[in-house]
Amino acid sequence: MINRNSGFANLTAGYLFPEIARRRREYAAKHPDASIISLGIGNTTEPLSPHIAKAMSDYALGLGTPQGYSGYGDEQGLTALREKIAEVFYPGMVDASEVFISDGAKCDIARIQTLFGSDVKVAVQDPAYPVYVDGSVVVGAAGKIKADGTGYEGIVYMPCVPENNFFPDLTVVPQNSLIYFCSPNNPTGAASTKEELQKLVDFANSNGCIIIFDAAYFGFIRDSSLPKTIYEIPGAKTCAIEINSFSKPAGFTGVRLGWSVVPNELKFADGTSVNKDWNRVMTTLFNGASNIAQAGGLAALDPEGLAEMKGIIDYYLENVKTMAKALDGENFKKAGVKVYSTGNSPYLWVYFPGMKSWDVFDKILEECHVVVTPGSGFGPAGEGFVRFSAFGHHKDVEEACRRFEKLSF
Ligand SMILES: *Cc1c(COP(=O)(O)O)cnc(C)c1O
Repeated sequence: MINRNSGFANLTAGYLFPEIARRRREYAAKHPDASIISLGIGNTTEPLSPHIAKAMSDYALGLGTPQGYSGYGDEQGLTALREKIAEVFYPGMVDASEVFISDGAKCDIARIQTLFGSDVKVAVQDPAYPVYVDGSVVVGAAGKIKADGTGYEGIVYMPCVPENNFFPDLTVVPQNSLIYFCSPNNPTGAASTKEELQKLVDFANSNGCIIIFDAAYFGFIRDSSLPKTIYEIPGAKTCAIEINSFSKPAGFTGVRLGWSVVPNELKFADGTSVNKDWNRVMTTLFNGASNIAQAGGLAALDPEGLAEMKGIIDYYLENVKTMAKALDGENFKKAGVKVYSTGNSPYLWVYFPGMKSWDVFDKILEECHVVVTPGSGFGPAGEGFVRFSAFGHHKDVEEACRRFEKLSF
């Protein structure tokens, strides 16, 4: 018999979202009348916008004609889309040859780990989006589960908490580490400033580190002083890879389209080009993003598409405001509940003093029939916090907020 990949045995029990779904199902089975509202998983809810949807539908119909048909395209993506992404999102910062089109950011984060293998040292923000850690476990880079069960021996956790304004102490990171960094952050909602990201870039350049910068929420940044890409920071091109996606700004969570930027200047210790190896990964282990999705991506970068994406994000940011107001209610204030939200992300990160994350989750499910996400599922420093997601129809979010008024502590 074949041995199981030891990485799988080493994964800690239950990925967060299946466990949330299990508790929700169990509750619904016992209380069939409860109309449950989900502010849990970060999944988009609003329909595709017309200009972008039409481009995909026209392209799909074209595929049914001899003139409009196309088969495999370049694995790195359509040249026109690579150029347009470079031009629209990274003017003067990035060349099209540094942009790779993919089937989404999560897939890129998983694939990128093949570049570094099992020997690399890994540092993550704590709390963090689960795939940084779980992907590292699967490729064997995370080491064993710590004796106290709070993480992996081979991973350095960088707590991001209110006390440090959600920007980590980088001095805990060993030299030559791969640093996963997400801004605006999922789950804390924190958006790092230019000064903070400059610190991160300077640290990486002086310590031989590579940053995997997850910018999936760049479209939510409304404060013009905040950087939308790591390449706004001088020095980033010698130390940072950016991973990005149309999922959140264009509602492409089901359509699937993302991109990565791997600068030509970025080098491994032996002086070889990271971009070249990434090109090899993308052409060898990946066969190109859907051509229909890429047609949608091109349309999304037209002036009409850009305006539509802004409209979709504005819709979700309205929900952030609605929820922030509800969570500022007397009942929450009395319990010492603290809401952390910058208005530059779709998430509210909320601290409930003296309570465990899963207990808050159960309480809100039972008393309000609302599903949220327990912060402890994102890492040890998330304990005591709960994440409220702004992805939802206005009417559902408003109803959830009315139910919060009844929550008692
Ligand atoms: C949603 C999300 C992504 C996933 O993007 P896909 O392109 O849909 O795979 C990546 N990173 C973070 C932090 C996310 O929340």
